[in-house]
Amino acid sequence: MEQGYYQKLWWEIILTTLGFSVIPLFILGAVIYQQFSASYSAKVMENMKTLAENRSASIDLFFDERISQLSGLAQTNSLAQLSNEDYLHKVFNIIQARSKSYLDLGIIDQEGNHLAYVGPYHSILKPVNFKNEDWFHAVLSTGVYVSDVFLGFRKLPHFIIAVMVREKNQSWILRATIDSDIIENIVRAAWIGKKGDAFIINRHNILQTSPRFGGAILEAPNAPDFSKVTVPEAEDMTFNGEEMLFATGIIKLKKWVLVIKEDPTDQLSPLLHARFIMVLIFLGGVILIIIGAVVTTRSMMKELMIMDRKKATSDELMIQESKMAALGKMAAGIAHEINNPLAVIGEKAGWIKDLLKMEDISKSENFQEYADAVNKIEQHINRAKTITHRLLGFARRMEPVTERVNINTVLDESVSFLENDARYRNIDIQVDYAADLPLITSDPSQWQQVFLNILNNAIDAIGKEGEINIKSKHIAKNNEIRIEINDNGPGIPKDVVTKIFDPFFTTKEVGKGTGLGLSISYSIVEKLGGRMMVASEDGKGTTFTIYLPVT
Ligand code: ADP
Repeated sequence: MEQGYYQKLWWEIILTTLGFSVIPLFILGAVIYQQFSASYSAKVMENMKTLAENRSASIDLFFDERISQLSGLAQTNSLAQLSNEDYLHKVFNIIQARSKSYLDLGIIDQEGNHLAYVGPYHSILKPVNFKNEDWFHAVLSTGVYVSDVFLGFRKLPHFIIAVMVREKNQSWILRATIDSDIIENIVRAAWIGKKGDAFIINRHNILQTSPRFGGAILEAPNAPDFSKVTVPEAEDMTFNGEEMLFATGIIKLKKWVLVIKEDPTDQLSPLLHARFIMVLIFLGGVILIIIGAVVTTRSMMKELMIMDRKKATSDELMIQESKMAALGKMAAGIAHEINNPLAVIGEKAGWIKDLLKMEDISKSENFQEYADAVNKIEQHINRAKTITHRLLGFARRMEPVTERVNINTVLDESVSFLENDARYRNIDIQVDYAADLPLITSDPSQWQQVFLNILNNAIDAIGKEGEINIKSKHIAKNNEIRIEINDNGPGIPKDVVTKIFDPFFTTKEVGKGTGLGLSISYSIVEKLGGRMMVASEDGKGTTFTIYLPVT
């Protein structure tokens, strides 16, 4: 039960220490990580949004520049001049000189006839009449028109910018095909990381540029539908079971939407790294705290146990001493009281003996009877004297003394106390004493108590039928005496052997064991300057070894 008390105390201290250190550490770590993660993710999203806005603005700027270039060209040249294909060719070369943004140029009258064309599709496009094309009607009504990407007569994805000019009372159109690689390059600059993607969609969620992964131009993209978005946005979405970061920018002129898609593990890898480091630090901290808690608690418990043991010993010794002191006094008193009448009886018996030597009595017919009776009286007086003498010896021994002691004698006395019990249980006690054992200066009654405790335990452990061996030896090297008390009992299991010296530890049934025997013995041995240890093999027996100093 007391062992349970120490265990409970141990757990209480450990859990309290851990609770008060690990929980705040965990909360602190979690809060810092939460804050860091929120602001880092916000920053990443903000950066994506800015990127989408910048790219969209670049595309708008590109369109504005092309439209003003084409408008300028149409305003500063007459229809007659531009309808001449040689002239148009020259103009085409001039505007291509600085940036190769155009694939071809064409002049179309208000009836849709292609008056002049410069570019790679002359044979296909020159004969074409555009009167029924959507873009043709759009440009006539709005003056400037930028198309979505379409296949057209050339059956290849492209888009056009057309400007209408009014000259005198007729209208004509300057139409240019834009090299979509330029837009593609602007968009491609937003492909970030290993899985990043960027593309443009029109208002019907149809791709206007080729994405890096999945889908082709003029198809629907492999992404959520952002075609109805009107303001730039950035959000974290799960699409097709995959978590992705999306940011959108609006290309104002066409109301196209630029979509930037990024892999969170690419973008948030510093965050994941930070999390990994935090977890490592946290685990390291927890391990250190646990080690610290265990080490300090262990040493605390050790101190506590030693203190408890000392207290139990001194309590027990005090009770024992006071009992013995009382017994000793009584014994001394009795011995003294009996000694006096014995002395008188002895004296009188001596006198009777002297009287028997007288002549008239020696002739008495009962002489022999008298002589025998007096001898018996003397014999029994002597016996009573030995007893009182022993009683006085016992009384003297009850007080703490230091005297010259032969440990073999103390061992013999201890054995003699238990001999009867051992014989009754069929336990054979064998002794093997060193003859050359030096005398020591110590308190024999305390050593006796130690030996009695150990021998008692050995007898209890064996139960019935067994053997106890007692050996003493002088170890000259360290000038100490070694005493080994071995039994062939059941031994002590490994998990028990570490606890047997603890106060109140017992495996005996209630009422039989107090758990104080070994704990007190241990303290006594230490107090008298010796040491005690135990070796036991489960099932094979136990040996207690005691070293005591000679000086
Ligand atoms: P108690 O004898 O009152 O139980 P002790 O402190 O003398 O208290 O012994 C503590 C425990 O150590 C015993 O209950 C027993 O389990 C164990 N023990 C001591 N000596 C032996 C032994 N020779 N063989 C087996 N077990 C032993």
